[in-house]
Amino acid sequence: MSDLPQPDLPQPDLPPPDSLQPDLPALPEIWHQTLGWQPTEAEQGQFQRLYEQILEGNRLLNLTRITEPQEFWEKHLWDSLWGIKPWLTNDAEAGIVSQDPQVPCKVIDIGTGCGFPGVPVAIARPNWFVTLLDSTRKKLVFLDSLLAALGITNAQTWVERAEQLGKSVEHREQYDLVLIRAVASAIVCAQYGLPLLKVGGVAVLYRGQWTEEEAIALESIVTKLGGEVQAIEAITTPLSGGTRHCVYLKKVLTVQKKLPQRRDIG
Ligand code: SAM
Repeated sequence: MSDLPQPDLPQPDLPPPDSLQPDLPALPEIWHQTLGWQPTEAEQGQFQRLYEQILEGNRLLNLTRITEPQEFWEKHLWDSLWGIKPWLTNDAEAGIVSQDPQVPCKVIDIGTGCGFPGVPVAIARPNWFVTLLDSTRKKLVFLDSLLAALGITNAQTWVERAEQLGKSVEHREQYDLVLIRAVASAIVCAQYGLPLLKVGGVAVLYRGQWTEEEAIALESIVTKLGGEVQAIEAITTPLSGGTRHCVYLKKVLTVQKKLPQRRDIG
C-alpha cells in the first residue's frame, strides 16, 4: 500500500478482535481487601491480553482447564499474586520481606507451565526480572510468543530441569525469590528451590491443603538445605472459598556439599 493518505473506506461489518474473547472481571475491591494492592488500568489490560493468549494457545496445546473468566481471575491471577503479597504490600511485620518492593528482584518460577505464577508476577512487578523455568520445551515456545505479544521485557524462558539448574554455577544461589506452584511435594519443591536462592532470599511454595505431617517433614529437609521455614500463611480464596497455603522458606546458609537427590528422600 502507498504511503499517501488513504480515503475513508467503508469498513467490513466485523467485530473488533477483542470482543471475540470474554472479558475478565476487574474486582478492584477484592484485590485491595485481600492483597492491599490493585492493578493499574494498564496492568488490567495486560491481564486481559494474557487471558486471551492463553485461550488462543489452548486451541493447539493443552495448557489449562481453567478458562472461565471468574475462575481464571481467581485460580491463575489472584492465586499467583497472593503468593507475593508480602512484596506487594511490603508487609514487614510478617518478617518475610527483607527488601523494599521497588528494589529490582531476581525471580525464578520453577515449573511455570503456561506461565503461572511467573507471568502475572512480571506484570505486577515490572522492575523485577522473572525467569520462567520448565522442563517442557513446547510450553516455553508458547510462552516466548506470549511474552512477545504482551510486550513483556522483564521475563525470559529457560528450558531445563530444576535439579540440574541447582548444580550450575550460573544459577546456583543467584536468585532473590523462587516461586513454585503445583510441581511436586513440598519436600521436593524445597530441594528444587533452596539451592537457587542467595542467602537472604525466599522461596514461596504455593500449596492447597497443608498438614502438620507435611510441616514436620519439611522442617528437617529445609535445615539440611541451609534454609528455615519463615512463615506459613493460610487464606480462603475470595470467589470460590477454596483453601490455600503459602509456605515461605528463607535461605540462611550457603550449602557447599552435594545436595540430596529426589531418590534419597524417604
Ligand atoms: N506452575 C504452573 C501452574 O501452577 O499452573 C504449572 C504447573 S504444571 C502441573 C507442572 C509443571 O512443572 C509442568 O509444566 C512440568 O513440565 C514442570 N516440571 C515438573 N518437574 C519439573 C522439574 N524437575 N524441572 C522443571 N520443570 C518441571
